[in-house]
Amino acid sequence: MPSPTYEERIKAYEGRAAAVAGVGKDPVNEPMIRHWCEAMGDTNPAYAGRHAMAPPTMLQAWTMGGLSGHTGRSEAYDELFALLDGAGYTSVVATDCEQEYLRPLRPGDEITFDALIESVSGRKTTKLGTGHFITTRMDVRAGGELAGTHRFRILKYAPAQGKPKEQPSPTDRSNPKNRSNPKNSRPRPVINRDNAGFWEGVARHQLLIQRCCGCGALRFPWLPGCNACGCLEWDTVEASGDGTVYSYVVMHHPPFPAFDPPYAVGLVELSEGVRMVSNVVGVPYDKVRIGMPVRLEFQRYDEELELPVFRPGETGESGEGGGG
Ligand code: ZN
Repeated sequence: MPSPTYEERIKAYEGRAAAVAGVGKDPVNEPMIRHWCEAMGDTNPAYAGRHAMAPPTMLQAWTMGGLSGHTGRSEAYDELFALLDGAGYTSVVATDCEQEYLRPLRPGDEITFDALIESVSGRKTTKLGTGHFITTRMDVRAGGELAGTHRFRILKYAPAQGKPKEQPSPTDRSNPKNRSNPKNSRPRPVINRDNAGFWEGVARHQLLIQRCCGCGALRFPWLPGCNACGCLEWDTVEASGDGTVYSYVVMHHPPFPAFDPPYAVGLVELSEGVRMVSNVVGVPYDKVRIGMPVRLEFQRYDEELELPVFRPGETGESGEGGGG
């Protein structure tokens, strides 16, 4: 008997279990329903109060394993992934989800579930690349009774080759070809009528903060109205340029062609009191510290783009007592 082809091997996963005898980590409960509704902005009264039911679209939420995951997960899904990875289909994208609701879920319902690999498609070519669609069906039960099904489809694929040969190392910023490639250049700010004045200021090397004409509150980033009093009239004050690092993160991942990770992104508190997100430059990313005094400067990235950034301030002024 001939050994199975690759297509036969992946097809053989159809019908195999992806999760067996799963148990929801929490019964259906009001706090999770409330958080969900707040996040979705869903104020339907059916989801609140003593006789609340869970929003049907929460179906999958009751089965999620969280950071700690579920035990007893089937190995078939991982094996299928490994097989597809090995065939070069290393990327994955979620494509769609279908749910079917058979009975409402209410606080107190205990959730169990099973999932199986319902189908593995033949090889398909999409705009993203070529690969296979995998559909998983999860049956969600409450008190042992089928409450709904959740079908989840992904595409496991090999990314379509664009024109990679023209850019051997797309993240190498020292290569001028890469800088001039719009895909590798720094993202442009979205300038609209609400923030145009800010960017006009940047062009003149002024960092402008909005000031409410009603209550005098300063605000940044720019907004059409005042959060404090609702007034729509405003003028601007120019920032002195002094600030401190209020907080920061160091970006390692994901890599993005316009940036060279790792790099520090600072939340800088200006001496006027407002905060802004910007790069902290002129210092290694791992030397950025909360409370570090910084000074505004304008950095040019290319012919069109200049941005306000912050550089650690001169330390000369702290010489008079070592207080720092
Ligand atoms: Zn105001």
